[in-house]
Amino acid sequence: MLISLIVPCYNEEEALPYLYKAISDVRASMSDRNFEFIFVNDGSKDNTSGVIKKLASEDKDVRYVLFSRNFGKEAAMYAGLEKSRGDYVAIMDADMQDPPALIPEMVSILDSDEADIVAARRVTRKGEPKIRSFFARRFYKLINRMTEVEIADGARDFRLMKRCVVDAIISVSERQRFSKGIFAWVGFRTRWIEHENVERVAGETKWSFWKLFKYAVDGIVAFTTAPLRLATYSGLFFALLAFGYLVYYFVRAVILRIYNDVPGYPSLLCFILFIGGLILMALGILGEYIGRTFIESKQRPIYIKAEEDNNNN
Ligand code: UDP
Ligand code: MG
Repeated sequence: MLISLIVPCYNEEEALPYLYKAISDVRASMSDRNFEFIFVNDGSKDNTSGVIKKLASEDKDVRYVLFSRNFGKEAAMYAGLEKSRGDYVAIMDADMQDPPALIPEMVSILDSDEADIVAARRVTRKGEPKIRSFFARRFYKLINRMTEVEIADGARDFRLMKRCVVDAIISVSERQRFSKGIFAWVGFRTRWIEHENVERVAGETKWSFWKLFKYAVDGIVAFTTAPLRLATYSGLFFALLAFGYLVYYFVRAVILRIYNDVPGYPSLLCFILFIGGLILMALGILGEYIGRTFIESKQRPIYIKAEEDNNNN
C-alpha cells in the first residue's frame, strides 16, 4: 500500500524544511504504509531545487521533477499526478496551509471505502485580506450558478484520491487547467473535511490579485460557455430596442410629420457609445474562447521537464 504526496513548489526554499519535517512525522506515525514524496519545482528563482535534491539524496522516498521554467501550479500538480505511483495520492501546498496532520484521517476515510476522494475545505478565511475573501466568495457563487459542476467555496487543492480518480484526472489533458473544476468534473464520491484557515509558515503568497483574477476567468471559460450566450442575449436585446426606436421615428416622421430633431444628438451619442461597448465586450468574450481553442489546438505539452530523480526503485 503506497501513498504518494505531491507538493508543487515555487520559491519555497524557506517553507520546504518545515513541510518535510511534518510529512516525515506523518510517515513515521503510519508505519504500516509506504510513502513517496514527490516535489515538483515549478521553475523557482530561489534555491528550491537545491533543497529538493538534497532531500532526495538523503531520503529514498523523495522523488522530484524540476521544470525548465515556471509553468504554474496547475502544471506542477499535473506533473506530480503523472509521476505518482501510489494507491492513494495526495496533493498539498508546500507552505503548510494544507495541514499534513489531516492525512491519517483522510487515509482512514478512503480505507473505509465511504468515498473515493477526501478533500479539505477551509471554513474560515481568517488571516486573508478582506478584499480577496470578498472576491473569492463572489467567484464561487458565479461559477456555481453558470456551470454544471459544483465547486465548493473554500475548497483547496488539498485532497487524497484513489488511483482510479488520479487516472481520470490525468486523462483530462487540457492545457489551460482549472483543477478545482476538473476535480469536480471527473465525479466520484467526495467527502469533505473542514479545517480552519492556516497561514503559511514562511515565504509569501505567489498569488497577486491580478493573477487570481485571471485564474477566475480561466475557471469560468474552461467550464462553461454561458458568457457567449450572455453576449448573444444582450446583442439581441439591444437590436430589438434599436428596431423599436426605428419604428418610433418612422411613425413620427412619416405619419406625424415631425422633422426638427437636432436636440436628439446627446442621446444618440450615448446610445452609439453604449452599443459600441457592448460589441467590444461580445468580441472580447468570443476572443477568450477562440484564444483558448487556439492554445489547445497547438497541443503543446503541459510542462517541460528539465530534470528528474532516478529513485525508480
Ligand atoms: N505554486 C506553484 N507555482 C506557481 C505558484 C504557486 O507551484 O506558479 C505553489 C506554491 O509553491 C505553493 C502552492 O502552489 O506550494 C500554493 O501557492 P501559495 O501558497 O502562494 O498560494 P495561496 O496559498 O496564497 O493561495
Ligand atoms: Mg499558500
